[in-house]
Amino acid sequence: MPQLVPPHGDKSIKSLLLPEAERAGALKRTENLKKAPLDSKQMSDVFMLAMGAYTPLDGFMGHDDWRGSCLDMKLTNGIFWPIPITLPVDKELAGGISTGEEIALTDEATGEILAVMEVREKYTIDKTIEAEQVYRTADPQHPGVAKVLAQGDVNLAGRVMVLSEGETPVNYPDLYIRPALSRAMFLEKGWSRVAAFQTRNPMHRSHEHLAKIAVEVTDGVFIHQVLGKLKQGDIPAEVRTRAIQAMIDNYFRKGTVIQAGYPIEMRYAGPREALLHALIRQNFGCSHLIVGRDHAGVGDYYGPFDAQHIFDELWEGALVTQPLKIDITFYCKKCYGMATAKTCPHDREHHVSISGTQQREMLASGADIPPEFSRPEVVVILKEYYAGL
Ligand SMILES: [Zn+2]
Repeated sequence: MPQLVPPHGDKSIKSLLLPEAERAGALKRTENLKKAPLDSKQMSDVFMLAMGAYTPLDGFMGHDDWRGSCLDMKLTNGIFWPIPITLPVDKELAGGISTGEEIALTDEATGEILAVMEVREKYTIDKTIEAEQVYRTADPQHPGVAKVLAQGDVNLAGRVMVLSEGETPVNYPDLYIRPALSRAMFLEKGWSRVAAFQTRNPMHRSHEHLAKIAVEVTDGVFIHQVLGKLKQGDIPAEVRTRAIQAMIDNYFRKGTVIQAGYPIEMRYAGPREALLHALIRQNFGCSHLIVGRDHAGVGDYYGPFDAQHIFDELWEGALVTQPLKIDITFYCKKCYGMATAKTCPHDREHHVSISGTQQREMLASGADIPPEFSRPEVVVILKEYYAGL
């Protein structure tokens, strides 16, 4: 009987989504509650809690867990946690809420009631601590730091009971695989060593090569993509999914890959986010996370391999899921094949590489993308998308 890695910090997956039969009753009781509208990042956290991806958290963090997570990557109970999960609101709203009170968390755009929270604590934070510790910079140009600086001044903490997972599971019924289901799928396939590949982009040959290195040394790969809000200019999930499926269907052996998505919103915290991604994957049942170049980074805030090195700084037992650290991958004309910076002895002039900006320009203008860089089946789908813009 194959065995998967255990959930993080708990014996079982902690899904905070209320059973369906109890939701209507709970919704009725929210009528008289004060409402806290959530932005896309906070909603994403509620959805992550709902599906059990943030096991063992039972809601938004209080001050001591916030501080421990920022400074020591540790909750007050000693459990590893590298990025604080908090619910900041405006001073005014916080002023009208007492501790012990139940409030309703709503989608700020639609007003839909998503969850009920029992407010256990209200506190203010020094935002610079979170920026400098988690993001390694206080630069307001960093998109993750910008959000922290712009967020409300009071954090509300408490247990969360989720009533709705919003539109994403409806929009992506096949991709929206919750941790309980991914675990069941892996076991059914007889997998125990599973590598997760995190992506928010279509996959070109360099990504395919990363996934194939993982297939060589594990039982299978879980291609796991971001279904939360994206940056402007990113390719929408429905197009990306089709492009990735074309790659899987044509270039992987059947039964070695599962494609799925989850409702996270990127923080672009580089190394710290790589750790969070690994923790989350442990909950999904993955023994490994593929960590390539500049994982979850943005701009040049992080060194290309900082997100790999940070795993070496963790204490024994912090995480069960381990990184699969892989160097930069590319097609080399002298090697006549895919290679990595670790295996190819040739100069960069022999490597086929196209930047993200160049790719967009080439796809939009209909220019040919070399098959050494991207599979023709993938290129067709991306060109069709750009032509329709
Ligand atoms: Zn070479």
